[in-house]
Amino acid sequence: MALITKKIKGTEDVLPKQSYRWQFIENIMREESRAYGFKEIRTPVFEHTELFARGVGQTTDVVQKEMYTFDTKGGESVTLRPEGTAGAARAVLEHSLENEGLPIKASYFVSCYRYEKPQAGRLREFHQFGIEEYGTQSPIADAEMICVAQSVLDRLGLTDIRLELNSIGCPECRAKYNQALRDYFGEYKDQLCSTCLSRLEKNPMRLLDCKSPEDHKLAEGAPKITDYLCEECENHFKEVQRYLDSAGVKYVINPTIVRGLDYYTKTVFEFVTDCIGAQGTVCGGGRYDGLIEELGGKHLPSLGFAMGLERILMVMDAQGIEIPCPDICALYIATMGDDAKVKAFNLLKQVRECGIIAETDVVGRGLRAQMKYADKIGAKYSMVLGDNEIAENKAKVKNMESGEQTELMLDDTFAEKFSVLNLTDNKAFGI
Ligand code: ATP
Ligand code: MG
Repeated sequence: MALITKKIKGTEDVLPKQSYRWQFIENIMREESRAYGFKEIRTPVFEHTELFARGVGQTTDVVQKEMYTFDTKGGESVTLRPEGTAGAARAVLEHSLENEGLPIKASYFVSCYRYEKPQAGRLREFHQFGIEEYGTQSPIADAEMICVAQSVLDRLGLTDIRLELNSIGCPECRAKYNQALRDYFGEYKDQLCSTCLSRLEKNPMRLLDCKSPEDHKLAEGAPKITDYLCEECENHFKEVQRYLDSAGVKYVINPTIVRGLDYYTKTVFEFVTDCIGAQGTVCGGGRYDGLIEELGGKHLPSLGFAMGLERILMVMDAQGIEIPCPDICALYIATMGDDAKVKAFNLLKQVRECGIIAETDVVGRGLRAQMKYADKIGAKYSMVLGDNEIAENKAKVKNMESGEQTELMLDDTFAEKFSVLNLTDNKAFGI
């Protein structure tokens, strides 16, 4: 049978047997950000196009080339979110969260959409975990932000990830720096890619973020922002480093990091690895003190980061980090006859209410085939229920690995007794 269609290029399915890996990393991200006082925000998958045009910035790759934008039947231009920051900032403004006390601290999991050339670590639909903090200028907030990301990576067991840190200053120090960049790149106009040529006047810092190998090489010799920071920005940058040192967070200063949003100011950072090929940035973030004003709010210094979930999973694979699968069936009840099916249904409900995974036959297999299935799904225990067991009101639960059998009453003590057995055996197996 021919399928009528397949998934869209650059998208991935997460199948039931893989989803525990996603849940594992998401749980750690939730726990770590929670420990720092961040609460989850959920915003729509699409927004008015102008939000991203302004929020992400007209001169960015994302806005110039990568957005999924379409007109609705009502004639409005809407865009599938290419990132999570703009939507969160819009929600903060729309609900006047600044009146509820500062800082506002939000975390999010979002699917993002960017029309990019699909390759390893670069998809058209991908997923991010991120946090945002609004209403603080303090370098402590910058350091805390970085610590959240570092704690997540540490708890996931990832190694060989470098934290690259930079400050891109405020609009004042940036003006001088931009002129220095225009002067520098102006000498190489004939070597620049067409996109960079068009950015040279409007936003020359974007040239440092160009993916074309020639431009990347040119960028290496460009003037360094760190030589152009004003006193306040320089102090802020030093303070951020002081707090990171105090928390024992290791970093390298990389003056070429500028990040993909137009409204970044001061601190910018990336966590980068060499173990998954060219798309090695697993997390990027920084301060964007101008964003909220740009979106129509008052001046509210803010900062955030986003982590690519697919890339994190790639690093875990590349580094051979095993994720424990919690989705193993603990009890499979095989049944013979209608009465057994009904009894099994009652026992399963009891067991499931204890949070234990339990299953039975729902496709009408014979006993042998049911046992084969129990084996296939890796059930830890099996139990056969037939007329005899029901008559005696007891049955044997078999440990599928050791073959050991334990008799349990089929009454309302069943779930409790089974839980104890399951727990004791788990401990014995070191699970
Ligand atoms: P890159 O330099 O790799 O294009 P970016 O600067 O566009 O990244 P951000 O907008 O900062 O990325 O997004 C944060 C994180 O989201 C990235 O560090 C990366 O881990 C992930 N990410 C970004 N784009 C993609 C994509 N197309 N596919 C998968 N993950 C992505
Ligand atoms: Mg990109």
